[in-house]
Amino acid sequence: MSKQVTVLGATGSIGQNTLAVVKENPELFSVYAVTAQQNVADMVEICQTFKPQFAVMTDASAATELRARLTGLPTEVLAGTEAMADVASAPEVDFVMAAIVGAAGLLPTMAAVRAGKRVLLANKEALVMTGQLFMDAVVKHNAELLPIDSEHNAIFQCLPADVQQQLGRSDLAAAGIRQIMLTGSGGPFRNLPLDQLAEQTPAAACAHPNWSMGRKISVDSATMLNKGLEYIEARWLFNCQREQLQVVLHPQSVIHSMVSYTDGSVIAQLGQPDMRTPIAYGMSYPARIRSGVDALDFMSLGELTFAEADPARYPCLQLAIDACWEGQWATTTLNAANEVAVAAFLDGRIRFTDISRIVADLLAKISPQQLNSVAEVLSLDEQVRAYSQEQVEHYSLC
Ligand code: NAD
Ligand code: MG
Repeated sequence: MSKQVTVLGATGSIGQNTLAVVKENPELFSVYAVTAQQNVADMVEICQTFKPQFAVMTDASAATELRARLTGLPTEVLAGTEAMADVASAPEVDFVMAAIVGAAGLLPTMAAVRAGKRVLLANKEALVMTGQLFMDAVVKHNAELLPIDSEHNAIFQCLPADVQQQLGRSDLAAAGIRQIMLTGSGGPFRNLPLDQLAEQTPAAACAHPNWSMGRKISVDSATMLNKGLEYIEARWLFNCQREQLQVVLHPQSVIHSMVSYTDGSVIAQLGQPDMRTPIAYGMSYPARIRSGVDALDFMSLGELTFAEADPARYPCLQLAIDACWEGQWATTTLNAANEVAVAAFLDGRIRFTDISRIVADLLAKISPQQLNSVAEVLSLDEQVRAYSQEQVEHYSLC
């Protein structure tokens, strides 16, 4: 029987790629529910094509509009975050693609974890915010976590089966692993003279050389704060110690990450820069299915190069690495400050280089504290957002 899928963030870049993999394998998957914030036009098209049982919009007014445009279809339209959590945890659902962007994805993703689903995790911010709490919930509720972020999916593919099945709980050294190497392209400003960074526009920051993605993650790739979030994500997913995790600049994005073993072997996963590959792998693991992605043609590949990330160009990366080892309060703070700063940059209110300033300001302002529950994480998240708005005003161009 086909697997029933809920796609959280269905209208986004990852959501649409997930639906493309479903379409490629109609005998294997059917769509139970889809969710989105406010994009009614795309949701109409998705519902007409996939005929899910439920469609959920964040905005009540968007839900009303969608309902009116879906007459004659079997899809029931709901509104709000709680409804998103409901369709992520319904007993009929086999797995959940967690592809809402940012902290907004935390509660629906957690609902899927607590319902013991196979959770395909694209929403890295949820794990960055909650770390140990998230990983503990996976174990407690017997959920199955599959990383979708291309780097973490690559690393997962390069790990021994017993480490894959004990995700976040294995002793890497005991498994013969020396180091996990996260590759990153360096984004669109990799070769730009440093004194031109401040004047870069949102359009330039979103023009990623290799990947086509949503706007927030595209800006994060330009600052490399995305690699910082991925560093924190990798720490939790693979139970890394500090010396077991390294970032390697690899501008061509052909190698999607690597695992270095004690015996000198390095296992890498390679492929086209196309998210349908990690998504299909997560959907079919441990089997392999069609994703619609072409094979890598080695004869047409040019050079593959590697370098260290320059801290002067990418201050956000070091802020994230430091936050990772400071504690949960620091990664929650980093994430919330960054979300506010990136939104302000995309709105043309601050400069590109103000993003790292705001993140650094907030990390200096917030006192170290213990966070013992998701509620405490969300409360700090809210507090940091309020302070970050003040910092946006401070740097504001208008
Ligand atoms: P996107 O902006 O293209 O799509 C985001 C989706 O989330 C949309 O469906 C939108 O409606 C929904 N959404 C946004 N705000 C919401 C809110 N407040 N409440 C409910 N829903 C909301 O983003 P994306 O590029 O698809 O990224 C999604 C997640 O996957 C992010 O966490 C990102 O870091 C991660 N990711 C993306 C890629 C990629 O290639 N795009 C790769 C790796 C990881
Ligand atoms: Mg990634």
